[in-house]
Amino acid sequence: MTSSPLAPPSATEETGEARQRAWVEVNTAAIQANVRALRRHIGPATQLMAVVKADAYGHGALPVARAALEAGAACFGVATLAEGVQLRRAGISAPVLVLGNLTQAEELRSCLRWQLMPTISSMREALLCQNLASGSGRSMAVQLKLDTGMTRLGVDWQEGPRLVAALRGMEAVELVGIYSHLACADAAPDEDDGLSDRQQQRFEAVLAGLQEQGLAAGCRHLANSAGTLRSHRQHYDLVRVGLALYGHPPAAHLAGVVPLRPALQIHARVTLLRQVGAGVGVSYGHRFRTSRPSRLAVVSIGYADGVPRMLSNRMDVLFEGRRLPQVGAITMDQLVIDATDAPRIEVGSIVTLLGKQGDEAIGPVDWSERCGTIPWEILCGFKHRLPRLAVAADPGVPTPAGPTAEP
Ligand SMILES: *Cc1c(COP(=O)(O)O)cnc(C)c1O
Repeated sequence: MTSSPLAPPSATEETGEARQRAWVEVNTAAIQANVRALRRHIGPATQLMAVVKADAYGHGALPVARAALEAGAACFGVATLAEGVQLRRAGISAPVLVLGNLTQAEELRSCLRWQLMPTISSMREALLCQNLASGSGRSMAVQLKLDTGMTRLGVDWQEGPRLVAALRGMEAVELVGIYSHLACADAAPDEDDGLSDRQQQRFEAVLAGLQEQGLAAGCRHLANSAGTLRSHRQHYDLVRVGLALYGHPPAAHLAGVVPLRPALQIHARVTLLRQVGAGVGVSYGHRFRTSRPSRLAVVSIGYADGVPRMLSNRMDVLFEGRRLPQVGAITMDQLVIDATDAPRIEVGSIVTLLGKQGDEAIGPVDWSERCGTIPWEILCGFKHRLPRLAVAADPGVPTPAGPTAEP
């Protein structure tokens, strides 16, 4: 046996301290508290799938997956094959469902090799799985997706019983579950045109059809975070929870149904301070002009790190429990804050872009409302350059010791 070469140092190791410039701090204790609170809400008859696609919504897939598992998550949802393989390579052996569509034989072969469950949306994929698995001596676990009104992935719900019958007849394929996805579960009650209920009725109609034909449905699931919080009737055997796992309600009217703790904070360092007079233009395009003599602080984070440029002149950062306004255009790698009212700020000071300090908190919803998007997109934006530190401590509490950098 040859000895394995030393792993190359991660970018963070090569540059020294992970908290040098800007970073994502992920509180795994909050992830665990959220899993436990959600499990209390769904009760013992329903399992929880932790949806960790897109690097766990920017939080880091591995520390989140490990924390969720420890707190009682039964399985994982990922969007891509590579995301599933990442969990397996890290030694995570819990069931993993690939929520996205895999269309190539090679991709489905990888599912078999890594024991990942693909989602089946058509007879074509079902037959591919049967062909691949029948030659391998293994059976291939799959789940069938029904389109009940989302109009994206899934076989048309009326076709459901026919496809289940076909899958049950394939000796090399094991149909583990059947699911659908809600399109408008986060709509406020007065804006809901009843689509969620119609989707559920269609799902029920398929299940009834299966029962009539004596076909087992396996694990039945319908709810995302919003479905999980809005109605116990939509829980079935499993709920697929993403946003709520990370501590954010999917809509204002669903806040408070389950106590949730935001798990992510974004911090960055001040790298330069400058005293300027009144009437000075700041950053590209001079979209901000000082109205008084000002002390400006340059902070080493920008839109390449996931701070939307659309927040230019429209966001605050936290320092010592107070809000300081961001001024001028947010640039690729830096932004400027007006620190005139924070005389204690200095080079090397840490400011918090998302997170909590004392009574002040800034969350992804604050950002998404200001730039016309949704908190999901804000969180997924933190994916490129920022080191992720997993800490097991409450948000807002400084964590002097023991951060573990996750690659
Ligand atoms: C992403 C995803 C989820 C999780 O959605 P949240 O709203 O973040 O809870 C659930 N189901 C499917 C099919 C998904 O793609």
